[in-house]
Amino acid sequence: MEAPASWRIGDVRVTRIVDMADFTITPQFLFDIEIETVLAQDWMQPHFATATGELLVSVHAFIVEADGRRILVDTCLGNDKQRHTEAWNMRQGTFLQDLAAAGFPPETIDTVICTHLHVDHVGWNTRLENGRWIPSFPNARYLFGRIEWDHWRHELEEEQRLSEAGDDHAAQLLQVGMVMGDSVLPIIDAGLHQLVEVDHEITPGVWLEPTPGHTPGHVSVHIRSGGQEAIITGDMVHHPLQCAFPELGAHVDWSSTMSGETRRDFFGRNADRPILILGTHFPTPTAGWLVSHGSSWRISLTPPA
Ligand SMILES: [Zn+2]
Repeated sequence: MEAPASWRIGDVRVTRIVDMADFTITPQFLFDIEIETVLAQDWMQPHFATATGELLVSVHAFIVEADGRRILVDTCLGNDKQRHTEAWNMRQGTFLQDLAAAGFPPETIDTVICTHLHVDHVGWNTRLENGRWIPSFPNARYLFGRIEWDHWRHELEEEQRLSEAGDDHAAQLLQVGMVMGDSVLPIIDAGLHQLVEVDHEITPGVWLEPTPGHTPGHVSVHIRSGGQEAIITGDMVHHPLQCAFPELGAHVDWSSTMSGETRRDFFGRNADRPILILGTHFPTPTAGWLVSHGSSWRISLTPPA
């Protein structure tokens, strides 16, 4: 196996473990936008978009090694899970083996943080064993945002209420019970979870920062060590294209307006600074720097001067 991509931020090492390697989607899959708009952003080729205007994306996790800790940020899709999206249904990937091969056997992970509780960020929280969902990382504390969990708990109650009222169609549309049932509730049942605030410090130099909009309690992960800095975006930004159009929300955003405000604020604060941006769905090379580009921003693969 090829060594996974990794980055140094002072004394901290971040390693990318891929669950679903770089693939293309149409811009319309995520955004209300045309191919021409993608092609006009010529800085996106060849890494972030194809010559025909399709977007490149990836599903991966980051391991943050800091202070003797092994922190897994987002747990991707998982295996054996029933999902409505065909490519995500009943997957049989090698994520846990790849993690171990990279030097991180699952039992050595001490912290799991889900930037939010969507299907592609909680999947490997659990794995199927003898027909039961068990924690994939038995020695880890799983950090879930308190605001985020409150939101999904209410969605779950709403789904149950609809279902009990006989409105199965409406209940199914929410799709909450399925994901929570196989990837979040088993962690809570096992007592491995810890509800945290949106500015929670995981260890000195690694902390959460609130980036709401995609979901109500969405967080990004900020790293600072030895005078260097990096930020793991989560789905605050899905694709580098959004740097050029900060207000461009994804179809799957809980609040498109809030996610746009969050991005504009984030880009304004972090652009043209030596802060490595690690994109949770950014395709290879996955990391870059935010730089000014006309009246908005773009991702550069070289640090700002
Ligand atoms: Zn996602």
